[in-house]
Amino acid sequence: MTMVAINSARLVSSIEIMGAIGALPGGGSCRVALTDADRDGRDLFVGWCKDAGCSIDIDCFGNIFARLEGRDPTLPAITFGSHLDTQPTGGRFDGIYGVLAGLEVLRSLNDAKVTPQHPLVLINWTNEEGVRFNPGLTGAEGFAGERDVATTLASKSTDGSSFGAELTRTGYAGLHGPRFLDVAAYIEAHIEQGPILEQANVPIGVVTGVQGVRWYEVSVQGANRHAGTTPMPARQDSFMAVAETAVVLRAHCRALAADLRFTIGRVAVAPGSVNTSPGQTKFTIDLRHPDEQLLDRAEIEIAALITEIASRDGCTAETKKTFHLKPVTFDATLVSIVQQASDVAGYGSKRIVSGAMHDACPMAKIVPTTMIFIPCRDGVSHDVTEYASETDMAAGTNVLMRTILAYDAIQQ
Ligand SMILES: [Zn+2]
Repeated sequence: MTMVAINSARLVSSIEIMGAIGALPGGGSCRVALTDADRDGRDLFVGWCKDAGCSIDIDCFGNIFARLEGRDPTLPAITFGSHLDTQPTGGRFDGIYGVLAGLEVLRSLNDAKVTPQHPLVLINWTNEEGVRFNPGLTGAEGFAGERDVATTLASKSTDGSSFGAELTRTGYAGLHGPRFLDVAAYIEAHIEQGPILEQANVPIGVVTGVQGVRWYEVSVQGANRHAGTTPMPARQDSFMAVAETAVVLRAHCRALAADLRFTIGRVAVAPGSVNTSPGQTKFTIDLRHPDEQLLDRAEIEIAALITEIASRDGCTAETKKTFHLKPVTFDATLVSIVQQASDVAGYGSKRIVSGAMHDACPMAKIVPTTMIFIPCRDGVSHDVTEYASETDMAAGTNVLMRTILAYDAIQQ
């Protein structure tokens, strides 16, 4: 395997030039999907890819595929990339790092005159963030065949325009259908968006998968009672039942697994009067873990505890699941190649499960897929203060390149 070093100064400069489009005070960028700023970022990206000798394909979801031909053009492509669209208060790194690290790999291979066997295809996915067009992951899910094309094109943004019309307006309405490209593998570099790698003081996260997510809406029904005249034992206080439930569930989830993430993010108490013990309290639960079986077990036990605690307070409870996303396990071969690439390059690393969804999730359903994480300062993301150091970005890009070359070599 040829050892090529990436040019971290060039990578940083590209991140800065891209970040200047839609620049926000404080260092971030706002390039919400298919706005003028996103179009300008895409145009800049396409220009850079053409300069690097790539041909450009656009599919019907506006995904951009920059192809650097391999020695054998008939082989399936090794693909990598991420997204250039941002949150309204986005940083310069979430998504952008993965795309521009991929570009830096292509540029570095060109500089070293290394041509892999497989075609290399760098991808910018459309609307990962899901700000204007909800939900996100539109481009990657579309390519993977998870979305109906006509329905997606007709879907409306928060400002009333349709996805298809905005693709046309910005010049990114392509003709290729889902899965038009024959793909051997997909590798995505990304900032961690959490504090784990920084705390471990390592530059590389070897990502083994993405945790599953479940959402629930719970309604606890009691009765409205006068706060002054109703003795405590005679009440059916829905809020007190929920308060106890919250404390018990947190302890129960901690006991089930240290890495089970349990959140009550919304509580609504009705009627919301200072002198009425409340008859109805609704709350939400967000539950996350990498093991689907553990989530199954937690789901059953949580629902039982909610009912039991409510009944002790003379209330009834109903728990309804509103969202269910299965955990993703990345390709074992690719994960071990990333680990090896990191070890051989001399970087400290840590195995990690992604806490957030990424474009790699839909890709993992159709082709061997993995991710490479790098630390970001204080774990902050979706904010203008988001920051990744040049050293860490260089490490992640080197590991990305070595992973691509190693996979290219073993598939020959
Ligand atoms: Zn992202």
